[in-house]
Amino acid sequence: MAGLLFGTGGTPHSSRTNTTIDGIRRIAELGLGCMEIEFVQGVRMGEAGARLVAEIAAGEGVKLSAHAPYFINLNAHEPEKIKASQGRVLQTARIALLCHAESVVFHAAFYLGDLPGEAYNNVKKYLGEIMHQLKQENNRVWIRPEIMGKPSQFGNLEEILDLCVELEGIAPCIDFAHWHARTGGFSSYPEFASILQQVKERLGRAALDNMHIHLSGIAYGKKGEIKHLNLKESDFHYAELLQVLKDDDAKGMVICESPNLEEDALLLQETYNTL
Ligand SMILES: [Zn+2]
Repeated sequence: MAGLLFGTGGTPHSSRTNTTIDGIRRIAELGLGCMEIEFVQGVRMGEAGARLVAEIAAGEGVKLSAHAPYFINLNAHEPEKIKASQGRVLQTARIALLCHAESVVFHAAFYLGDLPGEAYNNVKKYLGEIMHQLKQENNRVWIRPEIMGKPSQFGNLEEILDLCVELEGIAPCIDFAHWHARTGGFSSYPEFASILQQVKERLGRAALDNMHIHLSGIAYGKKGEIKHLNLKESDFHYAELLQVLKDDDAKGMVICESPNLEEDALLLQETYNTL
């Protein structure tokens, strides 16, 4: 993949309609490079629809990723909830493959009061089963657990990188806004550089050539993330992050999840291009 691509989480607001296909067309018109298809309320796309999405995206030169439903908890205490969670990741991965999406992003789990180590072991076990199944199906879409914004949610930087080291086919979704909200820090050049350094040390240089990033402004308090904000209304130093990404020659997708979607995606792209 050439350089960093910028795009939106979901169909841009200025699309003709809110369908995935009109979203892809709008991304191309705006001069952006990628889009994340939001299956966050459920995977409501059939096989024929997914094949058409792949065709349109290829024609428009837009790269895709997919976000799995929110209703996933691989540390649920009821076996049927685990099964349903695994099913949602698998279903997203199968449709993502047909869309020619390169990655599936998902929110792995909640601690539910468990020790982080216990939650980690559960997530690893049940995610391992998902990866085994996908391998049997010859589905090599990257499965990316996301760094989450609340301390009650499984998914700090170390946990996500540990999963990537231990399981084949897993790569991180680094949500810099979430990490900023969770820690109250990580909004400066040296802090951003330390994250990329960790990624490189744990996963190798190849991981920096295959990044998947979520970005937005964010409001936060003692319990972490409160809500997403537009970048300019937030305290997030996005230009410093972009400088680190440029200096480390990071490649992959930057998905903007600000409320204004394409406006901030364009701001990020334009800022990046001036560096
Ligand atoms: Zn997410």
